[in-house]
Amino acid sequence: MTRPAEAVIDLQALRANARLARARHGGRQLGVLKANAYGHGAVRCAQALGDECDGFAVAFLDEAVALRRAGVSAPLLVLEGVFDGKELDLAVEHRLWVVVHQPEQLRMIEGSKLPAGALVAWLKIDTGMHRAGFSPQQVHEAHARLLASGKVAEVVLMSHFARADEPAADATLEQLRVFDAATEGLAGARSLCNSAGILGWPAGHRDWARPGILLYGADPMPAADNGLQAVMTLRSQVFATRWLAAGEALGYGGAFVADRPTRVGIVAMGYADGYPRAASTGTPVAVQGQMTRLLGRVSMDMLTVDLTQMPDAGIGSSVELWGQQVSVNEVARCAGTISYELLCNVKRVPLRYV
Ligand SMILES: *Cc1c(COP(=O)(O)O)cnc(C)c1O
Repeated sequence: MTRPAEAVIDLQALRANARLARARHGGRQLGVLKANAYGHGAVRCAQALGDECDGFAVAFLDEAVALRRAGVSAPLLVLEGVFDGKELDLAVEHRLWVVVHQPEQLRMIEGSKLPAGALVAWLKIDTGMHRAGFSPQQVHEAHARLLASGKVAEVVLMSHFARADEPAADATLEQLRVFDAATEGLAGARSLCNSAGILGWPAGHRDWARPGILLYGADPMPAADNGLQAVMTLRSQVFATRWLAAGEALGYGGAFVADRPTRVGIVAMGYADGYPRAASTGTPVAVQGQMTRLLGRVSMDMLTVDLTQMPDAGIGSSVELWGQQVSVNEVARCAGTISYELLCNVKRVPLRYV
């Protein structure tokens, strides 16, 4: 028998989440497939999403070229833009859309030998994230230079929210105000919303949405109930069991010490598969559909769970680490991180599509 650890990817759920995003935001949307579709497999997700999205976004050029090589013909936006002139040529060759977020990239386009109208540029404006993007004061000039270069057929105006997952933060409204002021009078479609913007900030809805995490069914606002469906189920099986006597310590560092006789299930899943080592005793896990808890420290290839109240569970029992029953948001919280990091860290386990 092969090792039972796997990540099951529910492509119907993925499509349902994309439909939900479209219903909430309206207009057109780019499904965000960066980091191998947040660990879900970019090519398969692109194929499954099909016409539920009007195009896709990835972080960098190689991710986009890999999708093109796999036969994905939909519009593809490269969120970090190009790093040099060679990438710019490749972007045109593969009909990619590029984000332009700094003067360096503007000069690259102006100095290139690209044919007229070869590019669709998404002009990124820093409205408060203070990471990448042109300042509001630079926007009109950057927009004019892109069009004057002759290389650009269309400019889309975009920005990115820093705190849209905080329903009470004024920061998002301030970003909206800055965006509208900076882009006033400029021609071009607009795009502001990531998942949290789509779900939580109708005032930010414009021509294009850019849903990422919500496609994969993890709500960026864990307290909300937006009806998303988990796409990935990270699962495995119990492959051994044992009893700990009261006072016995379990695993590395003796991080869990039994305070009463405790039945332990040993599960084929570890941090080398992407399960977070920072998760500790008490992190939820489901065994044969019943909720229980992680015990002790996560090892590279295995972890241990509490079966004391589950006499029927044993070797071969199914274990869900996260998915439809165990919320990836909850596991992330227990590990001191966010769902994004857990999902895109999944590795080594085979991805199985249903
Ligand atoms: C990653 C990313 C998104 C998607 O963000 P989610 O929070 O996953 O929805 C949207 N826009 C940009 C620019 C991004 O980098």
